[in-house]
Amino acid sequence: MGIAEWRRKLQRGEVSARELTDRHLARIAAVDTTVHAFLEITAERARADADRIDTARQAGETLPPLAGIPLAIKDNLCTKGIRTTCSSRMLESFVPPYESTVTERLWSAGAVLLGKTNLDEFAMGSSTETSAFGPSRNPWNPERVPGGSSGGSAAAVAAGECLASLGSDTGGSIRQPASFCGVVGLKPTYGRVSRWGLVAFASSLDQVGPFCTSVADSAEILQVIAGADRRDSTCLTNPVPDYLATLEQPVRGLRVGIIRECFESEGLDPQVKSSVLAAAAQLEQLGCELVDISCPRFNDGIATYYVIAPSEASANLARYDGVKYGHRAEPAGAAENLAVMTARSRAQGFGDEVQRRILIGTFALSAGYVDAFYRKAQQVRTLIRRDFDRAFEQVDLLLTPTSPTTAFRFGAHAEDPLTMYLSDLLTIPANMAGLPAINVPCGFDDQGLPIGLQLIGGVLEEAKLLQLAHHYEQAAAVMAQRPPAELVA
Ligand code: GLN
Repeated sequence: MGIAEWRRKLQRGEVSARELTDRHLARIAAVDTTVHAFLEITAERARADADRIDTARQAGETLPPLAGIPLAIKDNLCTKGIRTTCSSRMLESFVPPYESTVTERLWSAGAVLLGKTNLDEFAMGSSTETSAFGPSRNPWNPERVPGGSSGGSAAAVAAGECLASLGSDTGGSIRQPASFCGVVGLKPTYGRVSRWGLVAFASSLDQVGPFCTSVADSAEILQVIAGADRRDSTCLTNPVPDYLATLEQPVRGLRVGIIRECFESEGLDPQVKSSVLAAAAQLEQLGCELVDISCPRFNDGIATYYVIAPSEASANLARYDGVKYGHRAEPAGAAENLAVMTARSRAQGFGDEVQRRILIGTFALSAGYVDAFYRKAQQVRTLIRRDFDRAFEQVDLLLTPTSPTTAFRFGAHAEDPLTMYLSDLLTIPANMAGLPAINVPCGFDDQGLPIGLQLIGGVLEEAKLLQLAHHYEQAAAVMAQRPPAELVA
């Protein structure tokens, strides 16, 4: 059942918010020792919030749109008074004194917080293996990763531990784990959703978005979190359309571009390829027109990203100096000098992958190299965007696989970070161009692992993106299959 059905039941009093919350807390208690989606479970607060909603309903008050809907939040979104760790030793004891805009809007809409979910440290990774607090597991097969960096948020939805969750996407961190876990994951247009209170990774790429079990639910969540915020100067002020109103509008005649280059890369799993092409054929049956599109710079996204994202990260992460907040190596006054104290705090507080990104970024920005690396990467970023601009002169939406493979085994890329970076090949270009993109489940491989397709829209074309994704989802009915109820390691 989706958010709309639960809302109806809650409004009619057929189920109470407390029952719905308790049911999900029980599910967490039953499966999260295996899945490890959660870093912290806020059971007491959840029950109190749910009780307040039930009291309000009994008093005849009109309930806000997400009243009683239990959610999970990626642990890089600040929640006032609730620890927000970014899965890092650096922020292990950080309790934010303020609330992020997106979560503030969710609580105002009546949603109930079940807890904070696991991620790769500071959202750097594709598997949750870089979390300082241990990885999450894929509900479809606990020997596989859930993807990352928002792996906990994706796994929590797939395992039925919450109705929806929030993640963040810098290079694919919503769409890739959604694909690995067989759920819907939406990255909105850059600036559609406020980044206030999202711990910064790469500020020109970061965007917050929902994980859900349906496209309609994704529209519900986006409706609440989207829109202007004067606390984030990159947040767009364009009015937020009614995403649910256009969901059912016919898709006949929509032009869908198949990006040729995405289907030619050698790392693409043949089962992923055939499943996504079959989905494209299904779109044709729905009355869409398929158009062959070339984006020659698409595959340069990854090289460009791994200069720009670490550069921005190295600047953003400079604030963790062991002084103001975060991990501090020594008691005040114990180190010989400030530089030694800062170096030790950072060496202890940051894991290997985060340190690697800081080193790459600092190198790419240093005098003598900044033109060869950072500036060049920005130029290629412009070329990638122009490819998309040209494509959207011909088509309404673009289609690619979301990830070149299905969920891999733990440790599969332990020896070589570069092979891990390749799993972002198909998701990064949308971040580079600031475009909205969505993962929709489209099938399973011969191991029973989910496969996902990615639809990419033009700037602020979320409504059209959700509309086509919804029609495909209804026609394909892939989401009817859920992971096993009993999750055993
Ligand atoms: N996997 C990519 C990385 O490691 C993307 C992460 C993200 O989107 N936050 O940087």
